[in-house]
Amino acid sequence: MSSQLYSPMFIGNVKIKNRLVMPAINLSYATAEGHVTSRVVDFYTARAKGGAGLIVIGAVGVDPDYVSPAGVLQLSSDDFVRGMTTLTDSIHAAGSKCFAQLWHPGAYARSDEYGKTAVAPSAITSGFTRETPRELTVSEIKKIVKLFGKAAERAKLAGFDGIELCGNSGYLISQFLSAKTNNRDDIYGGYEASERIRFLKEIITAVRRSIGPDYPITVRLAGNEFVSGGNGINDCIAIAKQLENLSVCALSITGGWHETNIPQLTMDVPSGAFVYLARMVKRNVSIPVIACNRLNVKTAEKVIDDGDADFAAIGRGFIADPELGNKGMTGEYSLIRPCIGCNQGCMDHIFRMKPLSCLANPDAYSESMSATKARGKRILVVGAGPAGLEFARIAALSGHKVTVREAEKKAGGMLNLASATAGRKDFLKLVDWLVNSCIDAGVRFEFGVRMEGSDIASSLRYDYDHVVLATGSVPKEPDFPISSEASVFNARQVLSGNAEVGHRVLIVGSNATAVETALFLSEAGTIDADTLRFLTEHNAESPELLRQMLFTGNRQISLLVRHNKLGRDIGPSTRWAQLAALKRRGIDTITMDSIVLLDEGCVKIKVNGVIQRVECDSVVLCIGSESSIPEFDEDAYTGRVTVIGDAENVGKLDAALLSAHKAAVEI
Ligand code: SF4
Repeated sequence: MSSQLYSPMFIGNVKIKNRLVMPAINLSYATAEGHVTSRVVDFYTARAKGGAGLIVIGAVGVDPDYVSPAGVLQLSSDDFVRGMTTLTDSIHAAGSKCFAQLWHPGAYARSDEYGKTAVAPSAITSGFTRETPRELTVSEIKKIVKLFGKAAERAKLAGFDGIELCGNSGYLISQFLSAKTNNRDDIYGGYEASERIRFLKEIITAVRRSIGPDYPITVRLAGNEFVSGGNGINDCIAIAKQLENLSVCALSITGGWHETNIPQLTMDVPSGAFVYLARMVKRNVSIPVIACNRLNVKTAEKVIDDGDADFAAIGRGFIADPELGNKGMTGEYSLIRPCIGCNQGCMDHIFRMKPLSCLANPDAYSESMSATKARGKRILVVGAGPAGLEFARIAALSGHKVTVREAEKKAGGMLNLASATAGRKDFLKLVDWLVNSCIDAGVRFEFGVRMEGSDIASSLRYDYDHVVLATGSVPKEPDFPISSEASVFNARQVLSGNAEVGHRVLIVGSNATAVETALFLSEAGTIDADTLRFLTEHNAESPELLRQMLFTGNRQISLLVRHNKLGRDIGPSTRWAQLAALKRRGIDTITMDSIVLLDEGCVKIKVNGVIQRVECDSVVLCIGSESSIPEFDEDAYTGRVTVIGDAENVGKLDAALLSAHKAAVEI
């Protein structure tokens, strides 16, 4: 039986064709003033065509005094209505409904971004910006309430089907709701969440007055803020019950604030990990509840069919594959390009005030980019890593005849290594999707064939019109001496399981690979999930000891770093979580000037000019990589050879995929 995910349901008096919601995600595609651009329209229209029942557009700013220059949409003046009307017309024509998420950043407005001090219910230093906002006066609060009302009126005028109020993630409304950020002693404060709701109540009243009795208002809330001293699920339920009595038509229940130290976005968050929050709210209200946070289509189907929520919101999944809804509805799950939770193109860009893109979907940066020219060249792609696969996929879709030759027995290249650490398995989903898409597009694969320079030259002479070198990289050679008795490996040997690493391990390096390798090695000897469940169920050990056994394995690991910031090449959405994981596992850092010698049983390092000896059983080198290209006379084949990915320039995965995608479109 087909899932109820694809059946219609009402929010207020608005019929939504299915239960799939694309939640508000800032794209940073608007103009610096906040106007809709064709890029915004193209992006959302593609998702509407792709099967989203409801698209929540946002964040949409309401306050003309707090406009981020990073391309955040606005409805803070009448000037924005025209562009928004173009957007809603296009979404409606494509078959979806759309709500506007009205938003005020409050204390989360960084002074260097907004050019002024942030405002908040109380002058409490923000855990997100590390800045102290100015406390709002009562007359300023009244003014902001009116701004929400005016913005709602404009949203209705622009053709939106409803309003969502952003009461989540740590922005202004949630700052009023939370005991952590609201210590006011006037009518806007209070000991109970049910008292601190006053600001939100006044906004709802103002919005209702602007838009009339029948127009849907929904609210997005943190099911648990996951910040010390903040609201938990019981506070959320208390707020939810009050909102139901205030003519709110639906509640979208998300997880923690941006400043939480419980990861919400990273790859290791299990799909549907926070659905329990929506389920607990749903048990206490009778209006529709929307569940979210790292859902994929199959989890979303389960959420709806199990009755945990009435709608399922998928944000990054719709970024990675605009057609996600249609493919899910027709059961073509394997065709869905997976969001792997890497954040490299989406959240890391947004946190750096750059326009959103997607590692898995280089098309996301331009929905209008087309790969449909049929040219029929015979193309050999050397290397079946991510760049080679993406090139092959696009080139084959463009009508070229593509063969991929790979030296190893399987595709994936560095993604196979990146997926080795616990919580990083989703990289393999991307490999599977790329390989399947290549096969569907007619790409021929040949595995276990190593191409030397002479083979490439011969291929160009006799068999192929064009050769694409996606040959990746090799580990850099160390610039320090290594004794022949030393037990030394590189990260690739370790992550591929081809190294017998001892108990006391020194990892040389401070990059993402060093951090990943340290976490990978720390898993040996930790308690497995079945044993943990068994011991917990029978109260066999104290929770403290069980927790210790989860993180403490049988290795003693240190990172040897040269005054570099640890994990400097990890994106901001993930780095803090990785560093916290190192700390939990007792992995320490030894800072040094240089390495003098890797010797048997020790590493000799120089610290402040003094040579020190650090005992160890094994050393793992994570000192970077350099491009690897087979040697041949490239000049003899001008215009017939393209180098992509790490073979062109060692860098991040999203850059490799994007360069491969562009090269394939242009060939
Ligand atoms: Fe998902 Fe990564 Fe794409 Fe973001 S960049 S949508 S996390 S695959």
